[in-house]
Amino acid sequence: MSWQKRTEEILQGRELAREEALAVLQSGNQEWPELLQAVFQVRKQFYGMDVNLHVINNAKSGACSENCAFCSQSAVSESPIAHYKIKTVEELIAGAREAVRLGAVKYCTVISGRAPSEKELDIFCEAFQLIKQETKIHLCVSPGLLTRDQARQLKQAGADRINHNLETSRRFFPSICTTHTYDARIETIQNAKAEGLEICCGGLVGLGETLEDRVELAFTLKELGVHSIPVNFFNPREGTPLAKIQPIAALDALRALAMFRLVNPSCDIRAAGGREANLRGLQVQALYIANSIFTQGYLTTPGQGHSVDLTLIADAGFRVAAIES
Ligand code: SF4
Repeated sequence: MSWQKRTEEILQGRELAREEALAVLQSGNQEWPELLQAVFQVRKQFYGMDVNLHVINNAKSGACSENCAFCSQSAVSESPIAHYKIKTVEELIAGAREAVRLGAVKYCTVISGRAPSEKELDIFCEAFQLIKQETKIHLCVSPGLLTRDQARQLKQAGADRINHNLETSRRFFPSICTTHTYDARIETIQNAKAEGLEICCGGLVGLGETLEDRVELAFTLKELGVHSIPVNFFNPREGTPLAKIQPIAALDALRALAMFRLVNPSCDIRAAGGREANLRGLQVQALYIANSIFTQGYLTTPGQGHSVDLTLIADAGFRVAAIES
C-alpha cells in the first residue's frame, strides 16, 4: 500500500499498526519524498500551515541527583554547563514577557532535579499566578516527578501543561537511567492528567536504542493519551556517558518524527532539541511533519536564533501561530 493511501486511511480514523510504524523507520531514501508528502497531509489536516513557537526557560540548572546518561545536568555529567538554583519569581515573570515578545504560544519553565522541593513549587505557583494576570500565554512546567497534590497546586496556580518525558522505550530505559524507574515517570504523567493538566511527553531518538524502541515509545505515548510530543534528536554532550555516540542521520531523525506523527496524528508534535545540530539543512522538512518548535535555544545549548527560525518558517510558506484564548 502506498504512503499516500495509508495516510488517507489515517485521516479517516484508521490507526497505524506497529509493523507500519516500523516500516516508516525502515523506509529508503528514495521513498522519502513520497512519505514526507503523505505525512504533510496529516499535519495539514490538524494544524494547517501554523507553527507553534515554544520558549524554554531553564529555571534551575545542573546538580541533579539523577543519572540520565544523555543529560549534561545529571549527577554523572562533567559537562561545562552553568549551575544555579531556582530563579526568582521576578526572573520567571521576565522570561514569560520575553516569550510573549518572541511570539510564543507556550512558555516552558524547566528545573533540573528528581522532584521539586516545596520552595520550588511555591516559586512556580507564585510566578504562574502573576503571569496569568498579565498575559494569555500558555504555561508549561517541567518540574520532575510529581505527586497528585503537587500537580493540583500547579494547576490551581495557572499551569496549563506538564512536561515529563519518557525519553525512550520501557525496555531501553534502564540502559540510560537507573536512579528512577519508567513506572515513576508514568505515574507522574497519570497524576498530572488526573488533575486536569495537559500532558507534554516525548523523548529522544539516537541514544543507541533500536528502531523497535522508537516505535514502542510512540505507542506508549498514544496509550497514555498525551497532548504534545517533543521529539528530541540526541546531540551528544561533552562530559556525559553518551558523549561519544554518533548522531543519527538527518533523514533517520525525520523518519522518526514522521513515525511519531502517523502514530499520534492529532498531537502537538515538536521538532525539539537537536533540531539545528541533527537536521541541519533539512530543518525545513521537519515543518511539514511537526507543528511546533522551540525557538531561542534549549536547556543548556543555544539554538540558531529566533530571527533565523522566523525566516525558516516564512520562507517555506508556514506562519507563526497566535495564542488561542
Ligand atoms: S532527571 Fe532531568 S535534569 Fe536530572 S539527569 Fe534526568 S533528565 Fe537531567
